[in-house]
Amino acid sequence: VHVLIVYAHPEPKSFNGAMRDLAVSVLGELGHTVEVSDLYAMNFRAGAGRGDFLEAADGDYFNYLKEEMHAAEGGGFSEDIRGEQEKLMAADFLILQFPLWWFSTPAILKGWVERVMAVGFAYDRQRRFDNGVFRGRRAMLSLSAGGPAAAYSAGGISGNLEVVLWPLQNGVLNFVGYQVLPPFIAFGLARGDAEARQAILSDYEARLRGLDDVQPLAFHHLDDFDDTFRLKPDVMAKTAGQGWGR
Ligand SMILES: Cc1cc2nc3c(=O)[nH]c(=O)nc-3n(C[C@H](O)[C@H](O)[C@H](O)COP(=O)(O)OP(=O)(O)OC[C@H]3O[C@@H](n4cnc5c(N)ncnc54)[C@H](O)[C@@H]3O)c2cc1C
Repeated sequence: VHVLIVYAHPEPKSFNGAMRDLAVSVLGELGHTVEVSDLYAMNFRAGAGRGDFLEAADGDYFNYLKEEMHAAEGGGFSEDIRGEQEKLMAADFLILQFPLWWFSTPAILKGWVERVMAVGFAYDRQRRFDNGVFRGRRAMLSLSAGGPAAAYSAGGISGNLEVVLWPLQNGVLNFVGYQVLPPFIAFGLARGDAEARQAILSDYEARLRGLDDVQPLAFHHLDDFDDTFRLKPDVMAKTAGQGWGR
């Protein structure tokens, strides 16, 4: 299996850096090939703009989706975007490694998603969800949070983590066709002691070694929705309250 880790932390000695290093060494030991996109080290540009394309579809009025489609149809993406798209196409398994910042990814990773997962390349009207470009491949979020697990459980002050991660897990990964494995979350880093952090790294190692046995999250199939993209009433009645996307 070829693995791509997209890593978004500015400090190599950070806990996220330790999680990345662990994944590289464990997955390598298991016989996989691993590539890392270290977004800060690459000085990856977060902001989408005209510079993302080799030529303009419309030099007068900038419409990002139209420019993306034009680039995908042959106009060409900038070198940084093309490089990341090639890495994605080569990877059977994608890990996004990041600290939770303001209930989301660091901006540099949000920018990576915006710029790399371009319409015409990562999805289009026909190719999304079950029919997505990355169908048959797996993806997983690996993140750290300052807050403790209890704060992110149902009834916790930060709210259910399923909701916090929904944009990434459904809006991005499931949308482009990946099977999404349950996230690995290093909680409580704001207060955790060294021993707690070692325990988290051991848990992460166990998760990485057991990846083949991990069941992907269950999302609805496209067929479960009517043509306005609402769940069909019989499906809704059957699956209400069952978690992830249900
Ligand atoms: C802008 C911003 C917004 C934030 N928003 C949120 C939010 O919305 N929700 C939330 O919960 N938190 C939030 N936080 C907190 C953030 O999630 C945590 O600071 C982050 O997850 C910690 O991960 P890190 O990699 O940066 O850890 P670091 O601070 O780099 O590391 C933590 C500790 O781990 C140690 N360490 C490094 N390597 C190892 C190793 N191999 N073994 C053991 N220990 C090691 C480091 O030396 C350090 O002492 C936010 C932080 C920022 C800066």
